[in-house]
Amino acid sequence: MTNQAAPHLLAVEDLAVEFDTPQGPQRAVRGVSFEVGECETLAIVGESGSGKSVTAQTVMGLIPLRARVAGGRVVLEGRDVVGLSDREWRKLRGERIAMIFQDPLSALNPSLTVGYQIAEMFRRHRGMGRKDARRRAAELMDQVGIPDAARRLDDHPHRFSGGMRQRVMIAMALALDPLLLIADEPTTALDVTVQAQILRLLRERQRTDRLGMILISHDLGVVARAADRVAVMYAGRIVETGTVAEVYERPAHPYTLGLMRAVPTSRDGGAPLEAIEGQPPSLTDPPTGCSFHPRCPFARDVCRESDPEPRVLGPRRASACHFTEEVIANARER
Ligand code: SF4
Repeated sequence: MTNQAAPHLLAVEDLAVEFDTPQGPQRAVRGVSFEVGECETLAIVGESGSGKSVTAQTVMGLIPLRARVAGGRVVLEGRDVVGLSDREWRKLRGERIAMIFQDPLSALNPSLTVGYQIAEMFRRHRGMGRKDARRRAAELMDQVGIPDAARRLDDHPHRFSGGMRQRVMIAMALALDPLLLIADEPTTALDVTVQAQILRLLRERQRTDRLGMILISHDLGVVARAADRVAVMYAGRIVETGTVAEVYERPAHPYTLGLMRAVPTSRDGGAPLEAIEGQPPSLTDPPTGCSFHPRCPFARDVCRESDPEPRVLGPRRASACHFTEEVIANARER
């Protein structure tokens, strides 16, 4: 599953992340591999606890407390960044790789004006004087669609609406021209109209700045609008990958199929949605064989005994299921 068309900005190879818990090590991420190229958006989807946010945080060098990288590599522009010092990470973050979060309020300092917080990035990283840094902050706020930007520099974060705060976050993330942007549920807290505006803004900036992007989301509607490719995670593993069209039109893993069936479409006409039965498994004591078998309508004996390896189905398409063909055939009948 390599991309011949564009050089990879990022390649994650066989990544494993473990948490120390009183019950023993918890494998939050297992054997995760993917790449992201210039101008490309990879969405990572899955239920909460699937490992998608831990993966993103690890790529960003923000490994959660009590967690450690137990194996694999995170290669950014050809350099393995696992194990870099805090000092090296501070330099990479913002400059090469930036992140926007679901809740900008938690990432912004409530006691400082928005203009000060953006300008501070130019002062600290670019050595700009106060006046120039303020001017650049206003330009950037204008570029992300904040009306009357020069006047709003002196407002504190709580004076902005949720959508405008998310624009401020995007301005801060883009301030130092990073190559890779990680967006963790960036529109979850916003209403549908503002959500669409923010996704459009991200898409536009991605094209003009040739950004690679990782979009973390549980919302398949958002992913369909914003991503090029999808990686579906379950219990710490990627269970299916492909382009948005491939995965949405012909899901090849029962978990993906379940996620799709839980999304309302115009065809449903208000029919009740089929939620996936059961709960995600314990990561300290995962089920034998395929982790999805206790919830899987396709499960047979072999699924309880053997964990399926990813099967390559196309140039950048794979599914980790013993009965992939059956699932694809079933998806066609939807
Ligand atoms: Fe279901 Fe078996 Fe495929 Fe796992 S391997 S997803 S249990 S059919």
